[in-house]
Amino acid sequence: MAESLKTWQDVAAGRGEYSVELNGQGYPAAWDLEVAGGGETGLDVSSSTDKSVDIDRAWRKGVWDELFRRGFGKDYMRFMDCEEKGYTLKCDDCGYERAKIFFCGLRICPECARRFAGSLFHQIMDIVGEINANRKRGWSIKLITLTLKKGEGWPDMHQLRAMVKAMGRYLPELWNSYLREDGAGAVASMEIGPSGNVHAHLVYYGPFIPKKELSQRWSEITGGSYILDLEMITGGKGVWEATKYACKMRALSPGQVVDVYEALKGARRVRCYGVFYNRVVVHPECPCPECGGTSWTFGGWLTQEEFKANFGGAGDRGG
Ligand SMILES: [Zn+2]
Ligand SMILES: [Zn+2]
Repeated sequence: MAESLKTWQDVAAGRGEYSVELNGQGYPAAWDLEVAGGGETGLDVSSSTDKSVDIDRAWRKGVWDELFRRGFGKDYMRFMDCEEKGYTLKCDDCGYERAKIFFCGLRICPECARRFAGSLFHQIMDIVGEINANRKRGWSIKLITLTLKKGEGWPDMHQLRAMVKAMGRYLPELWNSYLREDGAGAVASMEIGPSGNVHAHLVYYGPFIPKKELSQRWSEITGGSYILDLEMITGGKGVWEATKYACKMRALSPGQVVDVYEALKGARRVRCYGVFYNRVVVHPECPCPECGGTSWTFGGWLTQEEFKANFGGAGDRGG
């Protein structure tokens, strides 16, 4: 099986090295995370500096092919190169150079989704810590799961996209018309489940809310959808529940994965309200270990030998 898998080198040899796009910060155009491990939370939160050990190559190959077949050539390349290439970044302030593994950052990439979930988790836990230290009387942190009704079977791409867009309208409406309070806040993330069901997980800090009333409000907003769950959470487990979304892509067929990819294009990864607003970032800055600067310039791709020297033998995965 492994012999048939393409590596980025095969593709690069076929069409020449592709250039990396830079975003405003001088990073390759994928978020670039430094995430600490599980730490004292005891949860299995992968570190972005560890390469994933159990990448399912056959599953990825199927998704590459489907992305390519449907004409998503650029993202096909990114997806294929995830964790397979390395590059250097140079600190704009002191010239310190660091080697990095390239991560595709695509929503449908289980490894990148996991890294993103880890980053999100730690950011939310920091805020939860502040909330717990200064909690209003009678208020609590809750995990709310909101669903959208759907028809039978796997929805086609247009239905899926329509549901994702609808969720993007309903969530702010629920916040503004029902959850919003002075000092309250929420973080919402969207997930597409194995049957094509679109749902959202909210970590909500605020006063007591009766489940029946919340359910009624959600049903009014959405025209008949219901809430799945409302529970109080105290520690990291509930927050992890809300952040680990999109890690279940491997349960889907390549065709379904690319449906999800198309449906989620342009949709926000997380929505933050109230006390969480502007506190959670998708692209955390990586400070320079020498000078603390956060401005980096792309220094070029590593050769396969340099990649191996820096990160071990992953460069010849699949070859
Ligand atoms: Zn990736
Ligand atoms: Zn520096």
